[in-house]
Amino acid sequence: MARVYNFSAGPAVLPQEVLEEAAAEMLDYKGTGMSVMEMSHRSKAYQSIIDEAEKDLRELMHIPDNYKVLFLQGGASQQFAMIPMNLMKNGTADYIITGQWAKKAYEEAKKYGKVNAVASSADKTFSYIPDCSNLPISQDADYVYICENNTIYGTKFHQLPNTKGKTLVADVSSCFLSEPVDVTRYGVIYGGVQKNIGPAGVVIVIIREDLITDDVLEGTPTMLKYKTHADHGSMYNTPPAYGIYICGKVFKWLKKMGGLEAMKQRNERKAKILYDYLDESKLFHGTVEKKDRSLMNVPFVTGDTELDAKFVKEAEEAGFVNLKGHRTVGGMRASIYNAMPVEGVEKLVEFMKKFEQENI
Ligand SMILES: *Cc1c(COP(=O)(O)O)cnc(C)c1O
Repeated sequence: MARVYNFSAGPAVLPQEVLEEAAAEMLDYKGTGMSVMEMSHRSKAYQSIIDEAEKDLRELMHIPDNYKVLFLQGGASQQFAMIPMNLMKNGTADYIITGQWAKKAYEEAKKYGKVNAVASSADKTFSYIPDCSNLPISQDADYVYICENNTIYGTKFHQLPNTKGKTLVADVSSCFLSEPVDVTRYGVIYGGVQKNIGPAGVVIVIIREDLITDDVLEGTPTMLKYKTHADHGSMYNTPPAYGIYICGKVFKWLKKMGGLEAMKQRNERKAKILYDYLDESKLFHGTVEKKDRSLMNVPFVTGDTELDAKFVKEAEEAGFVNLKGHRTVGGMRASIYNAMPVEGVEKLVEFMKKFEQENI
């Protein structure tokens, strides 16, 4: 068996233990004589899988009782429409544009109401997080929207914006469960799980109960109403059953690792190894403002596109894969999600040092 160090931005590395457990249960899940993939979602066995997944997630994030946890489909991108369809009562929302995912959400929301870009870091190719302490928040804004960790550019809101009392909605796809969060500061927290939690096909939405209503935009499809899913425990129709099962295993793994406080420490340690090297290297350098650096996605460049390509190729041959930067920005990006071991980052840095010596 040859496992590589997989620095993919998503779908991304999962804990080996989780994969091994899933493999062991593939043909016969706990004496049922079938895999979880083959099981009715209405069965007792499956109900306990989804119930336990929710319970463990609530424990990990300390989710208060007045928030619902929904396991949905459609990718994070589907939320770009579901959020305005369900939350726009005044038909107005404010968006903070810190990268492509925020921009896509903003463009989508425009179809449903009046949408204001109240801050943006587009002027410096999204290499920083704007000051959000005193934004011109609209009086009648139904919510303020952020993408909390910018997967492509490698920036993160280390401080949440001052929404002046308006509901905060956050896409946390690429920082989900990477550190503790205060759920009460948000109206909606959501993310596709394929970055930091599980297999593509599941989106987790954590939403305050008062935001779940029948008062949605006219014409909203049944499947795109939060209430439909909240009323049916995420089982209005067939949920992404196998994906939820793997997410549940990752939640158990996180609990065993010591929970989100411990993950934060581990993630900080990993990120520091890489950032410290980028700060001292004469060949490689990081591309974003230091104070806004993400713990999860670390973009870097040599400044020479041919050398970048050479690095990516040689790294791959050495077992460090998916280091090529996003197709729209070039360079390199190391995504070092929860499941990336410390050793993976240490070895990557060793390899980068060697490459630097050979190419400077
Ligand atoms: C990957 C990603 C998305 C898009 O996710 P899909 O599940 O492919 O729709 C949205 N937002 C962020 C922050 C992402 O990293």
